[in-house]
Amino acid sequence: MAVKGEGPRLADYHLHTPRCGHARGEMRLYVERALELGLEEVGFADHFPLLHLRDPHLTMDLEEVPLYIADIEELRRAFPGVPIRLGIEADFVPEEAERLGELLSRYPFDYVYGSVHYLDGWGFDDPRYIDGYGDRDLHEIYRRYFQVLGDAAECGLFDILAHPDLVKKFGFRPEKDITDLYEDCLGRIAASGLAVEVNTAGLRKPVREMYPHPDFLRRCRELGIPATLGSDAHAPEEVGADFDLAVLMLKEAGYEEIVLFEGRKRRPMPL
Ligand SMILES: [Zn+2]
Ligand SMILES: [Zn+2]
Repeated sequence: MAVKGEGPRLADYHLHTPRCGHARGEMRLYVERALELGLEEVGFADHFPLLHLRDPHLTMDLEEVPLYIADIEELRRAFPGVPIRLGIEADFVPEEAERLGELLSRYPFDYVYGSVHYLDGWGFDDPRYIDGYGDRDLHEIYRRYFQVLGDAAECGLFDILAHPDLVKKFGFRPEKDITDLYEDCLGRIAASGLAVEVNTAGLRKPVREMYPHPDFLRRCRELGIPATLGSDAHAPEEVGADFDLAVLMLKEAGYEEIVLFEGRKRRPMPL
């Protein structure tokens, strides 16, 4: 990671907080780490409550959302001059999309990430349910994943798709080339006008690879899909992790800028 004053201006838009039940470290420490790294802007995007199940180890409760927002307001007062965005990461579960939209509209988010962590009720990226890979065909899992991701893009609730090829998290991949499996999904993302996230957390997971794969990102660029940058930090020391590699990958894909959000409006920031 570049030290302060050098390298490109960057923003980490994917920071979690202990409210989700599986992250640690006070929010203030995340911001301090970002400033230490010379980041221009930060955004918290903790997990929005799941509507199809309740699990205190996955998300905050609905009653906590106003407290999360108050935390951000307090941080803004503690760090005047530092742009601290109020984001959220919401799960796309088709049956709950209408209710989710109604709930999201109540809050003044700067941006909303849409995430696919569930395929027809199966939490495919949760180590507790990893056995599910044994009962299913990998090609079919990937096909279904990109179909649901396309549905998420089209549902109109989200500004950014988080970790767009999360399905590879554990390193299980179909033997044959998967580019044809996501081509349709990419067209749907481009037509819906969303951004995709370059998320460095994949490097810290069994797959040991950025989300998304460089080939996927190159196609995004060709289709004019904007990109954001996020570490998916669940601890202060993960803020800005491997952003040097992410910037390299973005540039190799042809990107000259990332995008920032404020009040759900997008603007570019040159890399
Ligand atoms: Zn998380
Ligand atoms: Zn996620």
